[in-house]
Amino acid sequence: MTVKWIDSHCHLDAPEFELDRYEVLARAQSVGVGLCVMPSVQAKDFAALQNMALHFDQAYALGIHPLYVPQALEQDLVLLEDSIQAAQALNSSGKLNDPRLVALGEIGLDFFVPLLCEPEMRDKQEFFYHAQLKLAKKYQLPVILHVRKSADELLRGLRRVRVQGGIAHAFNGSFQQAQSLIELGFALGFGGAMTFDRALQLRRLAAELPASSIVLETDAPDIPPHWLYKTQTQRQCGEGLTAQNRNEPSELPQMGAALAQLRGISLAALAELTVINTKRVLPKLQFFKSA
Ligand SMILES: [Zn+2]
Repeated sequence: MTVKWIDSHCHLDAPEFELDRYEVLARAQSVGVGLCVMPSVQAKDFAALQNMALHFDQAYALGIHPLYVPQALEQDLVLLEDSIQAAQALNSSGKLNDPRLVALGEIGLDFFVPLLCEPEMRDKQEFFYHAQLKLAKKYQLPVILHVRKSADELLRGLRRVRVQGGIAHAFNGSFQQAQSLIELGFALGFGGAMTFDRALQLRRLAAELPASSIVLETDAPDIPPHWLYKTQTQRQCGEGLTAQNRNEPSELPQMGAALAQLRGISLAALAELTVINTKRVLPKLQFFKSA
């Protein structure tokens, strides 16, 4: 029997999967990736993402991603709240309208992209981040965080608005920042980036952080693992995503193997551990038969 895995972060609604989404999911399932959590990036995608989650019976999150904050409008927050409310309303048989909504995300702060570091844009990012944290608290949803050169600022927000935790995705900060996130109820997401030999600090985090704090993710179609790059030059340039090196959820078990090796545990133990952790921080995943 194939081992069961959860891809805790996968953008299956991305245009890169437009032509072969069925095949991508079938490949994932054939290697034991039973469930994907699909975070959204902007309000205009919410409805399509919800339909996709229903159609493929996958989990999803709603939120406005920091890279999409420049074009975001305040009324997008109204649509976000309305969509959460509709999903969490009870139907006539007393069940949640849409139990596949498992988190608020992907939200956060990005202080890596130059445009987003300009003072006005920093303020706008902070505004959307805080507004969405408040919604997560109000609707008791865990949060999927985008962290890039922003861990301290994100932590400040989390101390001001106490949400129930969630996942700091593609985490690549310090041990101290990791520890603070863990204390606030967060697990840390690891994927393609830790498969590169030169990612020393990241590999150390992946190897040494407490076992209960680790979850796996592909972030597909982004962050391909090293084996999807064909040449040394391609790898060094982190060259653009082509059909040949697009990341996809079926890569997750091999990332799991890399992580198991880093931590010196068996693949089966690593799979079990990361699934338990993912379900703990995203409790609604318990309702999925495939999880
Ligand atoms: Zn993402």
